[in-house]
Amino acid sequence: MSVVERQEWDVVVVGAGGAGLRAAIEARERGARTAVICKSLFGKAHTVMAEGGIAAAMANANEHDNWQVHFRDTMRGGKFLNQWRMAELHAQEAPQRVWELETWGALFDRTKDGRISQRNFGGHEYPRLAHVGDRTGLELIRTLQQKIVSLQQQDKKETGDYESRLKVYQECTVTRILKDGSRVSGVFAYERETGRFFVLEAPSVVVSTGGIGKSFKVTSNSWEYTGDGHALALLAGAPLLNMEFVQFHPTGMVWPPSVKGILVTESVRGDGGVLRNSEGKRFMFDYIPDVFKEKYAESEEEGDRWYEDPDNNRRPPELLPRDEVARAINAEVKAGRGSPHGGVFLDVSTRMPAEVIRRRLPSMYHQFKELADVDITAEAMEVGPTCHYVMGGIAVESDTAAARGVPGLFAAGEVAGGMHGSNRLGGNSLSDLLVFGRRAGWHAAEYAAARAFERPEVSDMQVDTAAAEALRPFSAEGPAGGEDDGRPPENPYTLHQELQQAMNDLVGIIRREAEMEQALEKLADLRVRARRAGVEGHRQFNPGWHLALDLRNMLLVSECVARAALERTESRGGHTREDHPTMDRKWRNINLLCHLADPTGGLAATDPERGQINLVRETTEPVRQDLLALFDKEELVKYLAEEELYQ
Ligand code: FAD
Repeated sequence: MSVVERQEWDVVVVGAGGAGLRAAIEARERGARTAVICKSLFGKAHTVMAEGGIAAAMANANEHDNWQVHFRDTMRGGKFLNQWRMAELHAQEAPQRVWELETWGALFDRTKDGRISQRNFGGHEYPRLAHVGDRTGLELIRTLQQKIVSLQQQDKKETGDYESRLKVYQECTVTRILKDGSRVSGVFAYERETGRFFVLEAPSVVVSTGGIGKSFKVTSNSWEYTGDGHALALLAGAPLLNMEFVQFHPTGMVWPPSVKGILVTESVRGDGGVLRNSEGKRFMFDYIPDVFKEKYAESEEEGDRWYEDPDNNRRPPELLPRDEVARAINAEVKAGRGSPHGGVFLDVSTRMPAEVIRRRLPSMYHQFKELADVDITAEAMEVGPTCHYVMGGIAVESDTAAARGVPGLFAAGEVAGGMHGSNRLGGNSLSDLLVFGRRAGWHAAEYAAARAFERPEVSDMQVDTAAAEALRPFSAEGPAGGEDDGRPPENPYTLHQELQQAMNDLVGIIRREAEMEQALEKLADLRVRARRAGVEGHRQFNPGWHLALDLRNMLLVSECVARAALERTESRGGHTREDHPTMDRKWRNINLLCHLADPTGGLAATDPERGQINLVRETTEPVRQDLLALFDKEELVKYLAEEELYQ
């Protein structure tokens, strides 16, 4: 038996992005002793990279905005597959969460009359994104961190210890959620620097680990985003919802190769930037789908007038939802009308004075100057689609953020599914983090308080199994089970590169049946080889070992994406099938749930060649009547199935 240090908490939050920090603040304020654990440095999360802003119907820039319009936009963007109750709560509560941030010290950009300024973004009917230049995420994280520090200072005054009620474990990776019977009992983790194992025991665990982008070759995501939370929940027995929906942001950098995929914020288009092909044509006017025809301008003149007079003109098609713009760019490049490095041109230089560009888009100005030697005030950027966000995620109860099927497990932020349906609107993630982070922290604290006298137990056996799993890459000469067949171990970096290439090429922005079947075969091969992923050296800071452990998660999540994408024979939002190019109303009310095939919660009992995921179809709950009444009947006819319309 290994000796692994254990500490007791009421709530453990895995992930310190916006969702995790907001959950931790709420849990602590509701009296729960709360630990936050994160893989990277405290403050370094995707949230900090968010540029454009937080969507909230505060009606500061247009008095006609309200939560009902925001709800409508979110459902349209998600092509009506959203877990509608989440979309409702999100639209209703987002303004309160932004104002609350302000009371905690966030400094947003202002309108001339001193209110929080709001900018345009794709798919939002009114200017709705509260922002701080193009560095909104930085301000959000700074504010939440400051709030945490102030709570710790309060605790120091009362208990003499800053960390008595709220502690952050940074640069520590969770590899397993532990359970006592069916319910959660804590997490198993290792310190990245020393390799030391430890256990945080708690009746409630909130998963808020963000996205999965590192399974794809071209991505805006950074190294941490290996789908850990998705995999941890799956291994703990919770299903993942609609994993086929992966958002390819239309505008990532395409050049130079070393920075390919880095995000070019949608604010560039929100503030007036336009997309052109190699012939100089603003091609988006050719790509307005029927469902959006009435809402978007038919001519460049009308689109341009909209920036000044949005009440009497329709918006330009550059501001269609991201899935539409990404597909259009893909089609232009394929038709031979792309830019020299395989993207299209995004131009602000002819649309705004240089000093306005530098003031409104400072990060973009520096990003292009430093990484590509391009001055965006004088020339166009070259951009193309990049894997950005996953709409699929842990299946949760809308009001409580409780993960389905595993008592004590909660999920919030990008790792949770449902809120965004088949496609997320820009700005709706930061608001999602705050709304559902708070709800997750609240219900996790309540759940833990109700079990204060019957805390779940962590068995030594579970800890030993988790430790053995984590150590396996150091003794990987033979297949799992330990027999040495003489074959050399597999290099985790090679396996990762092959995985990223396969997902990019075969389950990427445009999908075809034969290619996805090929992807599943490739994943089977990688799973078998990953059991032999081996590393040299020791546990002190060893990135190869960390990657070998992350591979388990990426392979699980990639299988979920590929299986669900093969199953859904239609095109909707972030899932485009060349062989089924239209949206099919029959699929409108069908969710695809991925369950772990091995009922013991391990991976050993399943044959890696056959796969580790079972896919189950589920009918969605009908949208409540008063919410449906917010839409015109003609619009609903485009989305809803016959029987839903009849009802
Ligand atoms: P994250 O902020 O991604 O944090 C995840 C946390 O989990 C991190 O602390 C990480 O270290 C930790 N973690 C992961 N795995 C483990 C593990 N195994 N053990 C322990 N800890 C772990 N959205 C908007 O709404 N508006 C925008 O303007 C916007 N701009 C964006 C720009 C960029 C470049 C990117 C990449 C995304 C952008 N998004 C934007 C999306 C948005 O930023 C993310 O969806 C959101 O921040 C996710 O927040 P989160 O709290 O769910 O997770």
